[in-house]
Amino acid sequence: MDGNQEAGIRIDVSLCTGCGLCVGACPFNAIAIEADGTQGKKAVASQSCTLCGVCVTSCKLGAISVDRPEATNLSDKALYSGVWVFAELRQPEGSPGTDDSGAGRLDAVPYAQAATGGAEPAGVSYELLGAARALADSLGVPTSAVAIGSGLQGAAKSLAAYGADNVYIVDRPSLAQYNDELYADALTQLARRFRPEIILIGATTYGRSLAPRVASRLGTGLTADCTSLAIDPETRDLMQTRPAFGGNLMATIICPNHRPQMSTVRPKVMKPIEPDHSRKAKRIKPEISLPERASVSVIGAVRTLTDAVNLSEADIIVSGGRGLGDPKNFEMLEELARLLGGAVGASRAAVDAGWIDYSHQVGQTGKTVGPKIYIACGISGSIQHQAGMSSSDVIIAINKNPDAPIFKLATYGVVGDALQVVPEMIKQLKKGETHASPSG
Ligand code: FAD
Repeated sequence: MDGNQEAGIRIDVSLCTGCGLCVGACPFNAIAIEADGTQGKKAVASQSCTLCGVCVTSCKLGAISVDRPEATNLSDKALYSGVWVFAELRQPEGSPGTDDSGAGRLDAVPYAQAATGGAEPAGVSYELLGAARALADSLGVPTSAVAIGSGLQGAAKSLAAYGADNVYIVDRPSLAQYNDELYADALTQLARRFRPEIILIGATTYGRSLAPRVASRLGTGLTADCTSLAIDPETRDLMQTRPAFGGNLMATIICPNHRPQMSTVRPKVMKPIEPDHSRKAKRIKPEISLPERASVSVIGAVRTLTDAVNLSEADIIVSGGRGLGDPKNFEMLEELARLLGGAVGASRAAVDAGWIDYSHQVGQTGKTVGPKIYIACGISGSIQHQAGMSSSDVIIAINKNPDAPIFKLATYGVVGDALQVVPEMIKQLKKGETHASPSG
């Protein structure tokens, strides 16, 4: 297949009798039987087709075939240009269904609806735009955001402020709530038509579901949970770095023969650029065809009631590890965090020991955090722990062992016993509180 030929489903009308077997077989409601303008009826595929091929095997007459995209050859690569970010949205603070307490997972609430005053991009969208800007600048191409939802005018403005040159907008009431099928359909159609060379998606609950669907429909590769992204100056390929082999080494993955190159990145791994609210982006509203209804519809959303701490959003985190020696020593970390207005984190060793709940775990298999200050108490600083906190602005390590790996990463290090240093910090902070209070 040459690079310009569209991948797609082919129905040979001379063989098709309109029997309908393929309609029943298609898991995506993508085939209908329509009058063919003469006496008969024929199968017709819609844009919801994912090229899965189930219809090919269901057809007894050999009337259906699927052309899948093959490896993009070098001349095809030139047809792809630009860096795209899928702009995940969240409800504005204070609207029904949002979690202003910070106690729940914001990415678990439904998408914004026009009626609530419009959708706002989630933090991860701005972070990805920061990364996309740097990649696009090295390639000399534009950065685009793709906003899919309902009531997107405000979102488009914010995306421009955070670095988007173009905002592709698919704004429909039927897209007010996230839906795997419709969103994957929309993003796939846009990518087929406008051919970006790179698509970045947040490794959130939604993004983790959306990205593989789109990659599979586009017949390209996907690297999940990247921790850094760069452009190879010789080949212009995207170098996607992520932990591999249980986090024991960092692997750089490339996708040299397919386009677009697709990556997911967890929240708080990349940094947004300083917003410039006077910046304008070109708004592009392409006509795309989406089914009226998806085969799965969301009939309601129920918030999970957990004690999950909102570590990902905290500006200050006080984290404890095995070095604390006893679960009760987490009480002093809680007190320190309270005095600093922060949250408590933990290493996996502390979680595995049952000293603190998993929702507090920071690291490769826990949360990724990026606070202004991260205080690591009795944590050695394994590569898996670092994977979750190395982008913190300031890292303060308290450890008895001067050779602990955490000191290589730390901005400030205290070689000492956390069981003495932390109580002293609490004492000093309390003294400060007393002096600052009018009665003090
Ligand atoms: P240790 O490595 O035992 O370190 C304890 C530290 O405390 C030591 O440096 C010691 O010098 C110091 N210490 C002792 N007493 C004191 C004291 N009184 N005062 C001050 N310092 C003291 N780990 C994570 O944290 N998060 C993850 O998400 C994660 N995911 C993983 C995924 C995989 C696939 C694997 C294989 C491992 C993962 N791990 C993760 C585990 C990781 O490899 C380490 O085992 C773990 O981070 C160690 O936790 P720690 O630093 O608390 O304990």
